Amino acid sequence: MKFNSIRFKISVFYTAILALILVFYTALTYYNLRHTLYRDLDNNILVKAQEVSSAINSYLAVLGNDQRAFDFAVRRVIRLEGTHPNQDRIEEVERAWLAKRDKQNLAEAYINFASVDRAEEILSSANLTEPMLKGFLSDIAVAGRKAVSYKDVNIGSYQLRVGSIPFYHNYKKRQVYLIQIGVLRNKVFAILYGRLIFAALTIPLILLLASFFGGVITNRVLKPIMDITKVASNVTYKDLSIRVKSQRGEEELKYLVNAFNEMISRLDKSFKYIAEFSSNVAHELKTPLTIIRGEADLALMQERDPREYQRVLKVTLEEAEGMLKIVDDLLLLSRLEYEPSVFNFESFDFTVFINEIYGQARRMAEPNSISVKLSCPDKPIVIKADMVHLRRMFLNLLSNAVKFTPAGGTITITVRHEPKQLHVSVADTGIGIRPEHIDKVYDRFFHTDSPDKAGPGGTGLGLSIVQSIVKMHQGDISVESHFRQGTVFTVTLPVPD
Ligand code: ADP
Repeated sequence: MKFNSIRFKISVFYTAILALILVFYTALTYYNLRHTLYRDLDNNILVKAQEVSSAINSYLAVLGNDQRAFDFAVRRVIRLEGTHPNQDRIEEVERAWLAKRDKQNLAEAYINFASVDRAEEILSSANLTEPMLKGFLSDIAVAGRKAVSYKDVNIGSYQLRVGSIPFYHNYKKRQVYLIQIGVLRNKVFAILYGRLIFAALTIPLILLLASFFGGVITNRVLKPIMDITKVASNVTYKDLSIRVKSQRGEEELKYLVNAFNEMISRLDKSFKYIAEFSSNVAHELKTPLTIIRGEADLALMQERDPREYQRVLKVTLEEAEGMLKIVDDLLLLSRLEYEPSVFNFESFDFTVFINEIYGQARRMAEPNSISVKLSCPDKPIVIKADMVHLRRMFLNLLSNAVKFTPAGGTITITVRHEPKQLHVSVADTGIGIRPEHIDKVYDRFFHTDSPDKAGPGGTGLGLSIVQSIVKMHQGDISVESHFRQGTVFTVTLPVPD
């Protein structure tokens, strides 16, 4: 896989996004879990503190509410030590307390009973070491002002969660005490640590799998593009019949495949057209050249009289003129198509222009006894066009009309002005075009013999030139013909506002 390939980029991009999402999600669940575990721990501490506080109150209820009883109760609950003269009266309380103490795992808890006013401990459980006690009491004044407060205390390898819960002694209402309960946080750490290890192991695995499957999917998606590339590299001018097969249904790729196949089809058509065109040119030039060579060969075979030589030279001249016309027409066609600068657009009155053409048409038609008519609005029609090429276009249409109309026929030029458009039709009462030929009349070199065999043969380039000129004027041309009845060519040209 190359680093600048689409496959690589997509893989890296979406693996990175997936990694970000996974890390974010893991962090979120981690903090959520941490919060839940701490809440459970704190609730646990609160329950323990309530047990301690209710045990002290139970002793006080049995022994009376004086200072001695209070001191005894605290000592008894926190350290399970001390005796009392009224031992028999406290046995029942003692039993109940010990049962609860076991149930709450209070023996494992680190307990401290402190005075907020004096900011010191009164009594703490035997497992509470001196440094731990310091940690417990570090902010006793602050804790004392709150209802319940929690903090983390880390002493050596002991990591504790300590809750400070106020205790109000009934005997001295004003004096506030704190019951501080510390529990180990090991369980919380173990669970959180486990979660981290799990994430650290699973995220790379998920990413690895995702990038693998991502690669497979991208490969599948890019397969048609690879197919196109393969086909494209096999396309040569010799074989343009190759097409890409689009087996799958992806809409976008279907467009690409279709566009590519259409491009090859167009290229195929163009190449065929060029090949056919060159063979047509060769063929059109070969006929006159064969005639010239044949005539010259024949003339040189033996001594001839001057009139024979004159005839041969005349034939040569005629054929050379014909060839020159073909070459001139081809040059004009290629200039019309590839050199738009040959056009010189100017504004002029079309009615004046068409009247001139009409005069020329009459002179062309006269020798063949064909009459020419013009129907044109009186009002001036200003258009923007290339006058020289437009004249060439109408004369081509008119000379065809003359050529294909027998003597006694009529040619009618009709000009119709519509908003933004001008329709000019050249209609004749000539031999018409066979229906099977009507689509071919604009093809280069397509021509049929004129009925008057004596006249100059056509090159079949006239209507191609007409079409190119119309196209360059952003116009349109249409033909309508009835075989043996006549033909109408209609040119539509845009008229500026
Ligand atoms: P050319 O006139 O040199 O033969 P064109 O390209 O001008 O070539 O015309 C092509 C062909 O179209 C003609 O050979 C003829 O078959 C047909 N055609 C053109 N104009 C007419 C028309 N007015 N009447 C009948 N056929 C026509």
